[in-house]
Amino acid sequence: MRIKLPIFLLFFCLLATHIQAQNYSLLLKGGHVIDPKNNIDEVMDIAVSGDSIARVAKNISEAEAEKVVDASGLYVTPGLIDIHSHNFHGTEPDAYLSNSFTALPPDGFTFRVGITTIVDVGGAGWKNFNTFKEQTIDQSKTRVLSFLNIVGSGMKGGPYEQNLNDMDGKMTGMMAQRYPEIVGVKVAHYAGPEWKPVEQAVIAGEMANVPVMIDFGGHIPPLSLETLFMEKLRPGDIFTHTFAHVPGRIPVVDERGHVRPYVYEAQERGIIFDVGHGGGSFLFRQAIPAMKEGFRPNTISTDLHTGSMNAGMKDQLNIMSKFLNMEMSLAEVITASTWKPAQVIHREELGHLSEGAIADIAVFSLQEGEFGFIDSGGYRMDGTQKLQCELTIRAGDVVYDLNGISRPYWIVENPNKAEE
Ligand SMILES: [Zn+2]
Repeated sequence: MRIKLPIFLLFFCLLATHIQAQNYSLLLKGGHVIDPKNNIDEVMDIAVSGDSIARVAKNISEAEAEKVVDASGLYVTPGLIDIHSHNFHGTEPDAYLSNSFTALPPDGFTFRVGITTIVDVGGAGWKNFNTFKEQTIDQSKTRVLSFLNIVGSGMKGGPYEQNLNDMDGKMTGMMAQRYPEIVGVKVAHYAGPEWKPVEQAVIAGEMANVPVMIDFGGHIPPLSLETLFMEKLRPGDIFTHTFAHVPGRIPVVDERGHVRPYVYEAQERGIIFDVGHGGGSFLFRQAIPAMKEGFRPNTISTDLHTGSMNAGMKDQLNIMSKFLNMEMSLAEVITASTWKPAQVIHREELGHLSEGAIADIAVFSLQEGEFGFIDSGGYRMDGTQKLQCELTIRAGDVVYDLNGISRPYWIVENPNKAEE
């Protein structure tokens, strides 16, 4: 015993130093942190412990972390939140964005652009949300959330979306109350002259205390945009496809190139103006005059589906880069893709890098050069700045690393050693 005790103590001391030496699983060192919620826009270090952010400070010691990533010259932001996407992919024939081929699996499109939370808007209705949850939400590494379609059968296209008898605010609201993954209610593609879809969606939104998102348009004759903003929607409700100009919808920028006065009033009233770029909903001739006049979208989102991913939209970073080249600052485009969308979907635990928050983090480089961007009319705008995702961290794990900045350099110790 007399011999063993000091050895035990020595071991204990070594263990204690070891624990103290590695407080953090990951340290992002020297990156320019943009964290709008916490008003941080400067070079800082971020330490992660397990799935959470442990410390944000200047000069955190490298000795305290198991893994150190040199983020100097790069931007470090909260993981991006895309609040307009279509991810209820499946194999049901002729079902458009509801368990069918036009929707896309989230993990293939999120981490490579810094997105850690994606919101499917309207793929599922109250009748098929359970299938969406089991098939996509529960199977994805990306945090997947949902706006239930006011149509009970979801976004199956064609006659399904015109069926007023399948728009039940109460049933939709009850479903939304049951699942925390449901963060809103969606209205889209209804072409009739009635306000019923919007009114039923608001009933559901009130029951579950969640926002309503409106994809407006196609109404014959067009319904009043001013009535929608000032009477039908509530502060906090979302108008998506802000910079579209489609048949059956009054555009936000008028014939003389000015944003309509009631659009500013609506934004002041709390209506959220979302980009929702998509395959047919973003025109430079709407966006550029609006931006020049000082109008800003509240949130930037993709409207991701097979018809937008390889067209002008491409991905969240491409849209953010468009706005960077159209008068918005980097801090503004980051805010519109992180903290603001988190607030809009009432998920204020997300979209920031506070100590104790879940460690969903994105690291970007800002490329300088000559770039071209395409809108949904097929027109090009030139620009000099483009964001590229270098690293994505979801709940503390590196889930995407473009240039291996989180990896040790390869060294030939034993060429025959097999990787486990
Ligand atoms: Zn959409």
